Amino acid sequence: MSLGLPDVAIRAGAAVCATHCPYCSLQCGMHLRASANDAWSVEERDFPTNRGGLCQKGWTSAELLSSPERLRTPLVRDSRSAPLRPASWDEALDRVVRAIQRIQTEHGNDAVGVFGGGGLTNEKAYLLGKFARVALRTSQIDYNGRFCMSSAAAAGLKAFGLDRGLPFPLADIPRTEAILLVGSNLAETMPPVMQYFQEQKRLGGSLIVVDPRATPTAAASSLYLQITPGTDAALANGLLNIAIKDGYIDEAFIAARTRGFDEVRRLASAYWPARVERITGIPEEQLQLAASRLGRAKTAIILTARGPEQQSHGVNNVLAYINLALALGKVGKPHCGYGCLTGQGNGQGGREHGQKADQLPGYRRLDDPADRAFISGVWGVAETDLPWPGKSAYEMLDAMGAAGGVRALLVVGSNLAVSAPRAAHIEQRLDALDFLVVSDFFLSETAERADVVLPSAQWAEEEGTMTNLEGRVILRQRAQDPPPGVRTDTEMLAALAERLGYGRFIPAGPSAIFEELRRASAGGAADYSGITWDRIRREDGIFWPCPTEDHPGTPRLFLDRFATPDGRARFHSVEFEVPMETPDHDYPLYLTTGRIMAQYQSGTQTRRVPELLSRTREAFVEIHPSMARTYGVSEGDAVSLTTRRGTARLTARLTDSIRMDTLFVPFHFAGKGRANLLTNPALDPVSKMPEFKVCAVRLEKGTQC
Ligand code: SF4
Repeated sequence: MSLGLPDVAIRAGAAVCATHCPYCSLQCGMHLRASANDAWSVEERDFPTNRGGLCQKGWTSAELLSSPERLRTPLVRDSRSAPLRPASWDEALDRVVRAIQRIQTEHGNDAVGVFGGGGLTNEKAYLLGKFARVALRTSQIDYNGRFCMSSAAAAGLKAFGLDRGLPFPLADIPRTEAILLVGSNLAETMPPVMQYFQEQKRLGGSLIVVDPRATPTAAASSLYLQITPGTDAALANGLLNIAIKDGYIDEAFIAARTRGFDEVRRLASAYWPARVERITGIPEEQLQLAASRLGRAKTAIILTARGPEQQSHGVNNVLAYINLALALGKVGKPHCGYGCLTGQGNGQGGREHGQKADQLPGYRRLDDPADRAFISGVWGVAETDLPWPGKSAYEMLDAMGAAGGVRALLVVGSNLAVSAPRAAHIEQRLDALDFLVVSDFFLSETAERADVVLPSAQWAEEEGTMTNLEGRVILRQRAQDPPPGVRTDTEMLAALAERLGYGRFIPAGPSAIFEELRRASAGGAADYSGITWDRIRREDGIFWPCPTEDHPGTPRLFLDRFATPDGRARFHSVEFEVPMETPDHDYPLYLTTGRIMAQYQSGTQTRRVPELLSRTREAFVEIHPSMARTYGVSEGDAVSLTTRRGTARLTARLTDSIRMDTLFVPFHFAGKGRANLLTNPALDPVSKMPEFKVCAVRLEKGTQC
């Protein structure tokens, strides 16, 4: 253990490192304390977002630093059928570079792709984008955040001209009179954040929760709307219909700060309550109550999460909720706004600095001549050498090994064999690649299929910034060096770039990368140029945009103007469209997927923490007891679920908290219980988000099929 590191303070005779949790986008502050047996324990830290609170995932996060399962040496495969064997870093990197050079010589630069992750630090996400465009000269790079926040991001850009998950700090929530929370189970996925909603309730506010499942979050609400999966746009339009009819519309705000309401007003007239009840399954009187609580409140916030967003109409769903917020005049004012609850640890920063297929750092666009010229100047390359936008995540994965698709893939911090939709197909595409290299802490299900596996450092073994769900840029500090044989991803990318002849373009280490990121983001929508690591330490994080070192940062957006060219927000006419699949004769039920308290994302990390795994050891399916009786299924029975993509084998859990026509499967588990064996890769036409949240499914008792 490196006790002398600059990021580690000696307190009461023991090393203490002020850092943040490695998992979700709340990025709870925590202290890591060195204990006598050369391990670290987690202690509370009073940080503005979590105010000392942590969930079980955070409390147990340090266990993985000394996990016997972590990778400590590169692994290589001598042939496709040979097992992985240990290798030196030189051998592993040489193999990667030889494969890249051979494949690009034979098939062109775009035959090599890169797949990043929403958990990477800003520095790593930035460097990965630069590595792809400068050292690989490929257009083929995207990341798993495409599967997470892309619909809300696209909708925010369309409506407000800017995408930042929350346009206000969490501290604004308690004094908001009414909150509409759509498709989020915060009480289980992000428990410390519930303190803000509990405080709001204590102060007399109302919380309206929309979800097909009566989750613990719904239990904490003052009004719960149990929506039919895939009907969000109808619900939002229906609430707007009532708001117009009952006089809750803020005409002055609409006239002064928006464009496009007249068409939306006409469209909303077709969503009368009885019709919306038929579509959504939500009783008319509940619709009336929800609209009046939002409409009568002086302040209101509308929040969406993956429920409405992970659909093939995800962008339109979010736009419909934004229409409602704008029409009520509840945006761009204190204690008001529309916000997206980002999921992954750096889901916000990871979508700002260049690992997306169409993007350059600072939210610049790869197809914008001025943006290309600016970034090529920062990078010291010719603008003509920058590739153009490539395929989105699922489109790139779907084409792996096929004509016109990538033939080699570098995966950094993502387990797409578990997390991508239509997972069995994705496994086939991975196996069709000429070469797969994966950088990870553990031998994930994706790494198991790789030709080369590179062991990477964990969060407490490297430093770097993250941008939390509020848009607050925070700093993870290094508590110890990586174990022998393990390298950070920035070191790995620098070594690959050096071998490829582009080493001079890679800044030396995370702080130098951040300094370059500051320059590259200057003047962009996500402007970090005034943020320094020292300021972050002193000020408990800084909200972007922050264009100069004496700028205080921007906790609240849109108070004076929106980020559109004329400063006005845009309404969008959004009709309800049915999901790509709805129940039919062969597949008579809805399937929806989501998270549980003790697991995170594909479970690569959290399935290796005994305490977390002991809470839920295997994949399960939630079934309403009435539906279970119809199928002769009892609690604990083995069941099969089949969709047009495949079959998963699961254990039945009976609960009356779910709609009778809907089944729920958590997506963290691997093997035959993988939720994504079932999910539909139908993509939203704008965001390219797959339809994780709704498809048609058949339930059978037993696992015979
Ligand atoms: S998983 Fe999220 S909510 Fe839980 S401790 Fe970590 S950052 Fe906080």
